[in-house]
Amino acid sequence: MSSIDELKEKVAKSCQILAMEGLVEGILGHVSVKIGENRMLIRCRGPEEKGLLYTTANDIKVVDFDGRGETLVDHKPPNELPIHGEIYKRREEVQCVIHAHPPHALICGISNLPLKPIFGAFNIPAARMAKAGIPIFGHSYLITRSELASKMMEAMGERDICLLKGHGITVTGHSVEEATVQAINFNQLATITLEAMKTGFEPDEIPAEDFDELPDLGTKFNAHWNWQYLVHKLSRFLS
Ligand SMILES: [Zn+2]
Repeated sequence: MSSIDELKEKVAKSCQILAMEGLVEGILGHVSVKIGENRMLIRCRGPEEKGLLYTTANDIKVVDFDGRGETLVDHKPPNELPIHGEIYKRREEVQCVIHAHPPHALICGISNLPLKPIFGAFNIPAARMAKAGIPIFGHSYLITRSELASKMMEAMGERDICLLKGHGITVTGHSVEEATVQAINFNQLATITLEAMKTGFEPDEIPAEDFDELPDLGTKFNAHWNWQYLVHKLSRFLS
């Protein structure tokens, strides 16, 4: 199997995992990985479309950063491809982009629930993400043009996450594994925030001294083991 074929399998698995974990529903959402100066693999839709949970490597196609591809045949790139293309054009370090519409993150956004560091060791990458502040893009339209993606990138800055109010999330990473796990961390922050607010008692932010004691594992360290767990869980989930 070539490295491109392996990457197609990995992108397909990421789509399936995001569906299994409730970050995408039905046919909405897409994952891409950069494979060259102006080339990426991205989840497309074909005539046999059955939703993200049932993504296969055949749904992952090579396109340039503007969505043109010679091997698309009867597949169509996502309407929101500029989210991926514009990030790759301007952020050299990014290798993977995920765009999803997770319901819990959506509810936090539209209800203006603050995504704050309300837990610590429970999920350290998510706690650190919250402590750094969650970038919010305040528009709910589809990002179908490069200028709209540019506006989202202004809100996102150099961060690897962005909440798109009334819409969804964009997550970047140095690898498919890292971005997938980071998207799930982001979703867990939203889920816990939402559930905590439902109790009617606003949770405290954890104190600075607690953060000083938390190891900075980084996203890569956790991503490796978590990815392996998620791939294994997926194999059982689908059997
Ligand atoms: Zn979207």
